[in-house]
Amino acid sequence: MASLSLKHIYKVYDGGVKAVNDFCMEIEDKEFIVFVGPSGCGKSTTLRMIAGLEDITAGELRIDNEIVNDFEPKDRNIAMVFQNYALYPHMTVYENMAFSLKTARMPNDVIHAKVTEAAEILGITEYLGRKPKALSGGQRQRVALGRAIVRNPKVFLLDEPLSNLDAKLRAAMRAEISRLHERLGTTFIYVTHDQVEAMTMGTRIVVMKDGFVQQIDTPINLYKYPDNIFVAGFIGTPQMNFFDGTMVKQGDKVTFRLDCGTDITMDYIQADKIPLKYMDGDKKIVFGIRPDGVRLGKAEDDSLWAGAKAIVSVVEVLGGETLVYANLNVNTPDEAEGQIIIKADPDCVVHRGDVVDISISKKKFHVFDKETEKSIRRRLPEENIVKCSVKGSRLSFGGQSFALPTAIAAKDSDSAELVMPVSAVSLGKGEGKATLQWTEDIEGKTLYFLKVGELTLFAAEEGDARFKVGDELAFDVDMCAIKVDSCGIAPMALVNTVDGVFSKEKNGKQYRFFMEMAGSRLLPDPDVCRKLFACKGTKIFKTDIQYVFDAAAVSVVDKAVEYATLSGTVSEVLDYGYIKYAKVSVGGELITVAYDGKAGDSVNLRIDPARITVKDRKLDIIIV
Ligand code: ADP
Repeated sequence: MASLSLKHIYKVYDGGVKAVNDFCMEIEDKEFIVFVGPSGCGKSTTLRMIAGLEDITAGELRIDNEIVNDFEPKDRNIAMVFQNYALYPHMTVYENMAFSLKTARMPNDVIHAKVTEAAEILGITEYLGRKPKALSGGQRQRVALGRAIVRNPKVFLLDEPLSNLDAKLRAAMRAEISRLHERLGTTFIYVTHDQVEAMTMGTRIVVMKDGFVQQIDTPINLYKYPDNIFVAGFIGTPQMNFFDGTMVKQGDKVTFRLDCGTDITMDYIQADKIPLKYMDGDKKIVFGIRPDGVRLGKAEDDSLWAGAKAIVSVVEVLGGETLVYANLNVNTPDEAEGQIIIKADPDCVVHRGDVVDISISKKKFHVFDKETEKSIRRRLPEENIVKCSVKGSRLSFGGQSFALPTAIAAKDSDSAELVMPVSAVSLGKGEGKATLQWTEDIEGKTLYFLKVGELTLFAAEEGDARFKVGDELAFDVDMCAIKVDSCGIAPMALVNTVDGVFSKEKNGKQYRFFMEMAGSRLLPDPDVCRKLFACKGTKIFKTDIQYVFDAAAVSVVDKAVEYATLSGTVSEVLDYGYIKYAKVSVGGELITVAYDGKAGDSVNLRIDPARITVKDRKLDIIIV
């Protein structure tokens, strides 16, 4: 039984290949986690770092809350099962399974009990006397699993264990491994390039591409709410249908204009999570719909289905269902543009060349930004992007007007784009007035749909809804977080980044360690210190470092304390109304801190040592 914590894990191979970048994940006890992605995306490297078979370049790995970066594989209490079984050919099944227990000098009767129990669980009792070459692929894989089970590990790591088996056996073994996971009640981490394996086995799936985590979620959430085009296309068979196009809003209707010639029109309310800036008829979007979001036949209920025509190119009768491959552009059935796969009834009768009516769901569609490939119809939107105007230090949108704080010196503009994180909108007080239109409960959070003039604005809070639909609400906007590019308004940078080194000094018989930055030396947090050595060893003293910490980790204190504070002069104070920030000049660096004083003040700064992130400046990766 074990939980795992992976924080900012990186792997840079000799020669500079960045195989894994900033992998962060908390794995709870008893989870079945699947790493999935195309070949070369960094799945095995991550698994091997967890196993201890590969050094972790940077980051922190904990098993049951203990940092294990520098633990030998054998001390991690982990068992690994490989694709090629890695059985000893000269030993019997029994001996293969008993091998690690014998090396650990376990008494023979205990070994016997463990091997026979594992053999029973896996149904290989009758083969215990055989050598591996006298077994089938499936039986060998069971022996490999058995060898892991007898050790009673905290974590099972499985690296493509089924890829040498034929399709039928794979399906059977999939079910068997899922049952084994339930029976053992242990944490499993499973690597595969096969999304069907991932979807059927994982309690949560990590989708990876090119060394970066794309999305971590349950199988159903990945299917229903993919974060980007890659995840949308990778998860689900047959693949999601994608169409390039643009969007336009006219009154309370929105039309998706697909480049292949098809228009899909719906009520604005059905697409209201998509930022308005995409609805200008110009910005390139990608419309996505899964084959099960399309039907053969005329749209019956106009509010739920959009009608279109398609020309059939291939019909695949699979028995339980029929897949119809067609093209929305009825003049070009074989062109790539406009291709659509439809999951149809098994008894439907259509043929190549038929021009058919189809209907496309107005509920189950996805929309992506063509350039960034990110979803712009997220379940929990991250940003409000709306038209605004800025005049005489007032910001207006949706018929509301807000005073800009003196910290923001903005250029006037009649028509600009305001980007406001959903987290920057707070409810219950403030200058803004809105009507609560709708709420949605999304995994413990409440998403509020606020009607502000013509606009829909989103706000989100932890927990249940505090207000009722129809309520008139006051709202406020955190001006530190907003962005209006054309008026020169940028979010307040609240992250401090200071170059420095990590050094040591002999102090009597012992060494003392320092974080050196801005011409001063600070004592590090012991935990951070330990992690630095666990990751880097003594190489840490030769590494160019960047210390990164939030403004919230810095405070102004009365007294200067040796090795605990930095002394500097306030060069500028930024007044955001409810809060003031000072930029303090310390040894040639500027450090931002919340401070209610004036320029020219001499101040002492204390940075919470436990909240300092240490980055390797050259590799541009987080060490701790
Ligand atoms: P996956 O398991 O997803 O197929 P890997 O983790 O094996 O991917 O590999 C990730 C990347 O790291 C690939 O680009 C691969 O070529 C590279 N890589 C793997 N092992 C090594 C190594 N020992 N030395 C250098 N590069 C490696």
